[in-house]
Amino acid sequence: MSNAVGRLYIVATPIGNREDISARAIEVLRSVDRVVAEDTRHSRRLLTYLAIDRPMMSLHEHNETGAAQRVIEYLLAGESLALVSDAGTPLISDPGFSLVRSCREQGLPVVPVPGPSALIAALSVSGLPTDRFRFEGFLPRRQQARLALLETLRHETVTMIFYESSHRVLEALRDLVAVLGPARPAVLARELTKLHETVISAPLAELLERVEADEHQRKGEFVLMLAGAPAGSDAAMQDVDGLLNILLDELPLKQAAALAARISGEKKNLLYQRALELARR
Ligand code: SAM
Repeated sequence: MSNAVGRLYIVATPIGNREDISARAIEVLRSVDRVVAEDTRHSRRLLTYLAIDRPMMSLHEHNETGAAQRVIEYLLAGESLALVSDAGTPLISDPGFSLVRSCREQGLPVVPVPGPSALIAALSVSGLPTDRFRFEGFLPRRQQARLALLETLRHETVTMIFYESSHRVLEALRDLVAVLGPARPAVLARELTKLHETVISAPLAELLERVEADEHQRKGEFVLMLAGAPAGSDAAMQDVDGLLNILLDELPLKQAAALAARISGEKKNLLYQRALELARR
């Protein structure tokens, strides 16, 4: 008699073009006992297109705790399940986090079936540095909270990525210009893998102008990306000053500069000069 537990597969699905489903995703969706979907009606259409008929259950932000408990009971009973979201990779600005965390805490196998995700698709064509990036998901809806969050990103030196909806893309761009300035290089990727796919690269103020001038550019789904503040820029150096000041309280100047260089990615010589200046003040 086998008392093996089942596996939970985290299955990425297309973000627009159905042909982007992977062969392995199809095989897994066909083989599992149950498909757990953010919106069962939406995912049923994809399964029907793939000629797959599996029992489905829903797991979304409003029922995640109860639904996760049921998923775990099925897994413990030996069933295998696939989690899908409406589009892209589950858990990435989509439900599933508390389910996966609970499974891992209980030692239940969670298996990735990787595939599309809007943030990686957008980044890969952005022309912005890809070696380091910061994904911020959706910006807050309320302007005050949005501005406060953007303020914390002002000195960020790595590429920044946001998800945005058609309702708020203009407001987001206006606030970005206000906080990060008109010249910050930006890229707006719209409707990726779909009929009206467009990717616009421009300084923030120009991007805002183009989106304001053309209502088509406000329709659909968006990934908004920004270049980081240049290393060594005033903005970046203000952050480094804070770091250096803390380290200088505890360490000799040379060591403080070396450590600050490792933490910030700035050049050691530059930080040594800066530390000398700060120490003099
Ligand atoms: N889990 C998904 C993923 O892996 O990309 C993201 C889900 S999130 C609820 C939906 C957001 O992703 C949209 O508002 C948009 O910002 C972005 N997005 C999804 N599909 C997109 C597409 N085809 N083109 C551009 N952005 C897209």
